[in-house]
Amino acid sequence: MDSIKRNEIDIVKIGASKINEVDFENLAFGNIFTDHMLVCDFKDGNWQKPTIKPYEPFLIDPSAKVFHYGQAIFEGMKAYKDEDDAVWLFRPDENFKRFNASAKRMAMPEVPEDIFLGGLNEILKIEKEWVKKGKGNSLYIRPFMIAVGTGVVAAPSSHYRFMIILSPAKSYYSGEVKVVIAEHFSRAANGGIGAAKAAGNYAAQFYPTKLANEEGFQQIIWTDDATHTKLEEAGTMNVFFRINDTLFTAPTSERILDGVTRKSLIAIAERDGIDIKVQSVLVSELLEAAKNGSLKEIFGAGTAAVVNPIVGFSYKDDYFELPKIENSMASQLKDNLTNIQYKLAEDTFGWTV
Ligand code: PMP
Repeated sequence: MDSIKRNEIDIVKIGASKINEVDFENLAFGNIFTDHMLVCDFKDGNWQKPTIKPYEPFLIDPSAKVFHYGQAIFEGMKAYKDEDDAVWLFRPDENFKRFNASAKRMAMPEVPEDIFLGGLNEILKIEKEWVKKGKGNSLYIRPFMIAVGTGVVAAPSSHYRFMIILSPAKSYYSGEVKVVIAEHFSRAANGGIGAAKAAGNYAAQFYPTKLANEEGFQQIIWTDDATHTKLEEAGTMNVFFRINDTLFTAPTSERILDGVTRKSLIAIAERDGIDIKVQSVLVSELLEAAKNGSLKEIFGAGTAAVVNPIVGFSYKDDYFELPKIENSMASQLKDNLTNIQYKLAEDTFGWTV
């Protein structure tokens, strides 16, 4: 990985770390941030010198385009610590590529590798005490970019800010997850921005998800916008369906985020001889499988939760419970993936950096 040379990055260190004030045993996801952040502006057609400095609020003009036109993208990744105190990233090049694909779709400048990956390397060196050992512990990494150029004119900004902030995380358990299969609302459409990690994609999910929450469901499994017949993905997770002993997950498309966890689980499943098909499951097929008992598992896959089993789903007026399964494919795949991430198993894929 490229690493920025010290003379190519300004580093301003905090006086006293706040790490001793943090209760690492009781962390709510994404609420606490480390001592430093990376900031790098794009202006006058160029990326400026990045700075790592104390985490703090910053001023931004009320007419900044991010507030009015939502030019904003982000990534989500994690750093892990092995038993020998070495800090590891998992497939960071995938997040870097996806970030720049999102940037392109949102008419934002692509971030150079030495700023994104090199800058990340530098800030992780400074914050390595914040990455705790032990399976389940990690440092969640949130790179993002916003349009800070001014003027309430609906056109791309000429001034952007790229930042990286870091948040210590415990293994993420969101309780029993019941989902609603979307019948009317859509997350993404062909030609739209579903494949980008654009902030607006998430804001647009809040209202339908709130309606689902009011009915006692935690998430929505989105269906294709044109026909609402194909199962696509969930809030911040790609989705897998096990029917008999075959595992299905939808192919990525303009509507579906190309998840790093998803592609890693597909590779592990193929290596381990699991019958996996990258093929859309139709809502009608899911209902049929739930009724005839061949539906064994549904689970979501994403960086935050890794693998999140789904215990039941509703469609129109019906609710279906998933069977309780011992030795589920979800837990098998999760173990195999996290063992690679925490260096507890050999990384035959070369994913850890
Ligand atoms: N789908 C969506 C919409 C997401 O926001 C995420 C989280 N990035 C995922 C899927 C899972 O992607 P990943 O495995 O790269 O975290």
